[in-house]
Amino acid sequence: MAISVQNCPYCRANSVAFSAVKAWRIENDRRALLICGSCGEGIVREWFGNSDIVQMQGNIENLTIMLGRQWPEAPNGAAPKDTPENVAKFFCQGTSSLEIGNFDAAGMMFRKSLETATKILDPNLAGKPLFKRIDNLASAGKLTADMAEWAHEVRLGGNDAAHEDEPFSLESAEDLKNFVENFLTYAFTLPSVVRRREGRSETTIAE
Ligand SMILES: [Zn+2]
Repeated sequence: MAISVQNCPYCRANSVAFSAVKAWRIENDRRALLICGSCGEGIVREWFGNSDIVQMQGNIENLTIMLGRQWPEAPNGAAPKDTPENVAKFFCQGTSSLEIGNFDAAGMMFRKSLETATKILDPNLAGKPLFKRIDNLASAGKLTADMAEWAHEVRLGGNDAAHEDEPFSLESAEDLKNFVENFLTYAFTLPSVVRRREGRSETTIAE
């Protein structure tokens, strides 16, 4: 079977060999099921070429086969819309570290993204520990109480004393990413959607 060397969207292994185990057609389109050599999960790839992806041997790069779209798609890693630029940059560095299996680096960047975001939301909180800042933002109505509670359930890294010396796992880095992504959506994306909507209705009134 042909092999595709790529990153795994499940276990985040970097440059791992996926084996094409099954191929089929949907009308004129070709699809193949490829299995990750590291975790055993499967992805579906669109492919082109006259050779048989399952019968051929060797790296697809050296065969007359071209790969197209992928399901599930590789995560794009971007921060939610309207996240301030520096916060978004740290978030992206977190997701790209996560994609290549550097879970500690990912955890640190997600935390940095969150710290920067809380400073933007309230510069007076800068000297306080991260948990405290999140609690204060919730009591000031800038975050929901549920979001503050969630912050206490994820591993934030840094001076999170309970886990200080433990490395981040895929799960703890992913949990943190998920929390930060929702935090940024709530703190930046939603308010700007509302502002844009208000802007539109003001224009309507002015007309
Ligand atoms: Zn995998």
